[in-house]
Amino acid sequence: MDTASYHEYHPPGQHPKDSAVAKLYFRHGTMDSAKTLNLLAVAHNYRSQGKRVLLVKPRMDDRFGAASIRSRAGIEAEADLLVDPDSRLDPAFFAGVDCVLVDEAQFLSVHLVEQLRALTRGGPPVICYGLRTDFRTHLFDGSRRLLELADSIEEVKVTCQFCNRKAIFNLRMQADGAAELDGPQVELGGNDRYAPACFGCYGARTGLFPPLAG
Ligand SMILES: [Zn+2]
Repeated sequence: MDTASYHEYHPPGQHPKDSAVAKLYFRHGTMDSAKTLNLLAVAHNYRSQGKRVLLVKPRMDDRFGAASIRSRAGIEAEADLLVDPDSRLDPAFFAGVDCVLVDEAQFLSVHLVEQLRALTRGGPPVICYGLRTDFRTHLFDGSRRLLELADSIEEVKVTCQFCNRKAIFNLRMQADGAAELDGPQVELGGNDRYAPACFGCYGARTGLFPPLAG
């Protein structure tokens, strides 16, 4: 490609140099995989070195404590920024920030994931923590876009609640412990109704993916 045609598609001055582009990370894991604890540990490490981190979270609801990023281990921090699906990120808000950490990233809109990706041009690295799939094994919209756009995709691992294999799914249960496959994708405040499960245990409880008939 000669210089003229290159500049046709990459107008000079429009984008910072490659060296000014930071990475977008998606660290996914099931329920109970200590994603939030991992996020808060990263935040602590940056802050103990005198660096600035910004904690971001989808708003989801306005109940008391909605801005709190709380791990099951009991450690928590306040989100610096709550985002809505149609939020517009102001780059000035991120000036001088060393790292952006996003909790519950599966609930980000596609529009927001794309803005976070754009923010890494000349901005800080962005590390998103979230579920990969919902209780029916389907990708969340935010997670799909993160899988498509992230430089780095990492798994936060946890053991299946029912055996010793690695969990990859989120089993949703009714009050009596029976598997649930109906209902809305998101049920706020019902975290104790979910269990991390491996493929075998998830299938045994839901009846999904039975063995192929021979
Ligand atoms: Zn299992």
